[in-house]
Amino acid sequence: MLYIVLGIITTLFAVVGVAMFAFGISRMVRTMRLGRPVESERTGPFGRRLTTTLLEVLGHTRMLKRPWVGVAHWFVMVSFPLLVFTVAEAHGEVWDPHFHLPLIHDWTVYGLAIELIAALGLIAIVGLALYRQIAGPRRRGRDSRFANSVHWTAYYVEAYIVALLVAIFVIRGFKVAMADFPFPVWATPISHALGAVLPASEPALALVAAFKLIISWMFFMVLAAVLTMGIGWHRFTAPFNIYFKRDPEGGPALGGLKPMMDKSGTKPLDFEEADPDEDPFGVGKVEDFTWKGLLDFSTCTECGRCQSQCPAWNTGKPLSPKKLVMDLRDHAYAKAPYLMQGVTEETPDIHDDVLSLLGQPLVGTEEEGGIIHPDVLWSCTNCGACVEQCPVDIEHIDHIMDMRRYQVMIESSFPSEANTLLKNLENKGNPWGMAEDRRMDWMAELDFEVPVVEDRLPEGTEYLFWVGCAGALEDRAKKTTKAIAELLHMAGVKFAVLGGMEACTGDPARRLGMEYVFQMLAQQNVETLNEAGVTKIVASCPHCFNTLGNEYPQLGGEYDVVHHSQLLAQLVDEGRLTPVQPIEENITYHDPCFLGRHNKVYTPPREIMEQVPGITTKEMHRHKERGFCCGAGGARMWMEERIGKRINTERVDEALTTDPDTVSTACPFCQVMLGDAINEKKSAGEAKESLEVVDVSQLLLRSVKPDAAASEEEHKEKA
Ligand code: SF4
Ligand code: SF4
Repeated sequence: MLYIVLGIITTLFAVVGVAMFAFGISRMVRTMRLGRPVESERTGPFGRRLTTTLLEVLGHTRMLKRPWVGVAHWFVMVSFPLLVFTVAEAHGEVWDPHFHLPLIHDWTVYGLAIELIAALGLIAIVGLALYRQIAGPRRRGRDSRFANSVHWTAYYVEAYIVALLVAIFVIRGFKVAMADFPFPVWATPISHALGAVLPASEPALALVAAFKLIISWMFFMVLAAVLTMGIGWHRFTAPFNIYFKRDPEGGPALGGLKPMMDKSGTKPLDFEEADPDEDPFGVGKVEDFTWKGLLDFSTCTECGRCQSQCPAWNTGKPLSPKKLVMDLRDHAYAKAPYLMQGVTEETPDIHDDVLSLLGQPLVGTEEEGGIIHPDVLWSCTNCGACVEQCPVDIEHIDHIMDMRRYQVMIESSFPSEANTLLKNLENKGNPWGMAEDRRMDWMAELDFEVPVVEDRLPEGTEYLFWVGCAGALEDRAKKTTKAIAELLHMAGVKFAVLGGMEACTGDPARRLGMEYVFQMLAQQNVETLNEAGVTKIVASCPHCFNTLGNEYPQLGGEYDVVHHSQLLAQLVDEGRLTPVQPIEENITYHDPCFLGRHNKVYTPPREIMEQVPGITTKEMHRHKERGFCCGAGGARMWMEERIGKRINTERVDEALTTDPDTVSTACPFCQVMLGDAINEKKSAGEAKESLEVVDVSQLLLRSVKPDAAASEEEHKEKA
């Protein structure tokens, strides 16, 4: 009788569990379908995308960025599908405690695999649960990567896995005690050890099997009932999220921004023909995200890796990329049932709560009932640390930028300081609003002629040197420009510049969300470059380097673009530049985000310093992939930083822990931001007076051309 009752109860749980889970999946899919279409490139090539998915899921390639957590998670992950066999077996055991799975019931490999995976899975999940306690917000507050996560769901999932795995061993122990266990001791030692202490009780075995089935099917019911349970659902959604990620080659969504697409989702938006009522000018409502965006939000595991690396979050700003994703997810799932039924704000007789939910602005203050606070949206530096860290390939920057685009182009709502930037870009083609001919001022101090393109690139020119607005107009950055020009000249590289014909690449406008101004500037530059016959470009600014190389192809500008650190490292390697003068200094190198994380150029700047005699380098704690932003990206250079600690100050504080004589970098914006913070530190007596921030090209020039070092020393002394 007991077995019949248990059999009926567990079967009912299975039926309801399967039905609810199927309903959950269908609701999730219907929610995604509310989103806009995606670019066609996201669906292929199938083989490449499948390989990436398998590597990332089975190989845990992204999880292993935190090795022991990655290994522990791998065991928990594989225990899940493997233990499906034991769940199937339990459905027989509740009816008949002597039940075994057909065919494999006495296969030692099966017995061993389950024993091993269950044991390692148990150790792993207990380890992860303990880690959550140690690194959790109760101990570490805002510094915890689990701050902002929903904790009960994590505890529930962890408790479920522990209970399931323990139940497996207990059932096996009963079978050993009942002398009904076909596997040898060497393959199943834990089960045999338990069998030695458990009674040979058939009803007890059936009860434990029933318990195991009830918690298992309840797990699926809870998943369906609490659809926003990130830590529960990611095991099903992550493979799809990885498969459909932006980069078919498998990289994270870094580098260039994706262009704005028209309403079909397949064609880039043409501003001449676009209709803001029809075409998406960014994202103003949660259903304006693409279905992949909604899948992103559904897949977040709430692990907080993004948050722990975010410079905004780490300096006390309200932006947490994790919380942003979770808030968008919760809002999407709250709104979806009404949208699926076609309910709108205009529907007659709708309840006030529904009306206010449907009318909630996506971006707005608390008083406005906004889901994402404007301070959250505008704190992002586009540094890419979140995207780089995310184990399930969520594309935070794209979503932030889509919301910015709507705020800027439709709502005209953005930090007022950026107005000047936009005006200057539109009227003068540079962020400072300086006259075009000032772009050539830096050449006056050189003792050789730099060819300036008039119409066509001069015969025999190897590289077009893209100077960039900062490099041409900002005093500190101009030193880098001169150093690069001198080094190229000394190495015999034939190069030319566009001079007054060069305009801003449009990066600050694009990262602000003003796509229209970006397109205007970019089209103008592409036209100039194409008419001049440019094929190879060396850029000194990583933002220009990124835009020219990764974004201009979207507008018909296909060039072979290198960063100056890459070209200079190559010239040293080829013996065309020989560093001779020792520089006896401790130097720490700051990775610019748009050179490092966005474009994976980590080695060349370090190689240059390695080749200079005398330099001792010391890495900051956060470097290379985990480098920490200077605070200038995402058009933040042109906005006030009013909340929390300044990001550049945080970075310089970290640099100071290496006790450097010099901080080096390879980006004019980093140079300015770090230089400003260093000057503040000097004024406060917290940094030595001689500390300076220089570009690696300046270091190289000092060593290659000793008189350059002497004149810089002289200049420093005078300063
Ligand atoms: S891009 Fe950088 S600043 Fe923006 S959310 Fe991600 S980590 Fe934070
Ligand atoms: S967005 Fe990615 S990194 Fe951030 S919490 Fe979610 S899963 Fe983790």
